[in-house]
Amino acid sequence: MANKVVVLGSLNMDSILRIPRLPLGGETMEMTDKSSAPGGKGANQAVAAARAGAQTSFIGKVGADDAAEVLRDALKSDNISVEHVTTDEQRGSGQAFILLQESGQNSILVYAGSNQSLSKADVDAAKDVIKDADFLISQFETPIETTTYAFECAQSVGVTTILNPAPAIPTIPADLLKVTDLIAPNETESATITGIEVTDDASMLLNAAKFAQMGCKELIITVGARGAFYANQNGSGFVDAFKVKAVDTTAAGDTFLGALSSQLKPDFSNMREAITFANHASSITVQRLGAQPSIPTLDEIKAEYK
Ligand code: ADP
Repeated sequence: MANKVVVLGSLNMDSILRIPRLPLGGETMEMTDKSSAPGGKGANQAVAAARAGAQTSFIGKVGADDAAEVLRDALKSDNISVEHVTTDEQRGSGQAFILLQESGQNSILVYAGSNQSLSKADVDAAKDVIKDADFLISQFETPIETTTYAFECAQSVGVTTILNPAPAIPTIPADLLKVTDLIAPNETESATITGIEVTDDASMLLNAAKFAQMGCKELIITVGARGAFYANQNGSGFVDAFKVKAVDTTAAGDTFLGALSSQLKPDFSNMREAITFANHASSITVQRLGAQPSIPTLDEIKAEYK
């Protein structure tokens, strides 16, 4: 049976602006190319979970604008329930402007817009869906108080919670940590939270000790092309990434988390197997351009298992 996954999080319309280099102050510069596509960490994670086989629902907020329809349709086309994607009449839909330089470096400007209006009332309206789930996943592109409240609701009915602390903030409120079952940062987010750079095995263990001190029971740190580290009260381990030629790592972490949630047992008893599956999924994503278009389906992930 496929897991039931609820993602509470952001929906953004991404504008990818290809430019030779960043313009100087006062300079007007011609773009090389421009395109747009649905994104946002929450939406990307939901798409990854659904394509990997999870029965997926989304809790989010769009604006009263043209982008809203595109953002909803993108989820619907992956069979994600949008019953709890509601509309903010005041603010526009979330947007991200990705300035992609010829050097390959990118800089991102985010307009949070309607994502910032996701409220406790929206969680209340979605309580039945949360209650029915195996996992509730959230990030930091929507208000922290809403995530905390949703996690409290989830835990009170025995639903396992996963926090992707991204974009990173140095101090995660204690009341949110208290209701988080699994915290899953990437290496830079982990360092922002613990103050300890992730460089080698010893530093990963130091990061794990710090998270344990903060009360986190289960931890996964994704470390890009190297793979993923996990730790809990019983010990720790590392699952190597698959060696592939990466062309664009956008949405690697989102794919990892969504795919993980489709396979993980809510008691975490199959952590290594679920991470191996998630590494497979994200190794496919990094070989393709873009965010949501690059996220693989279950058949594509299975084809990688040889
Ligand atoms: P984020 O996108 O949040 O920065 P990471 O860069 O840590 O996340 O990547 C998440 C996962 O994606 C990794 O744990 C790994 O499984 C996979 N991955 C990322 N980069 C590569 C790569 N160059 N080659 C193979 N797998 C990769």
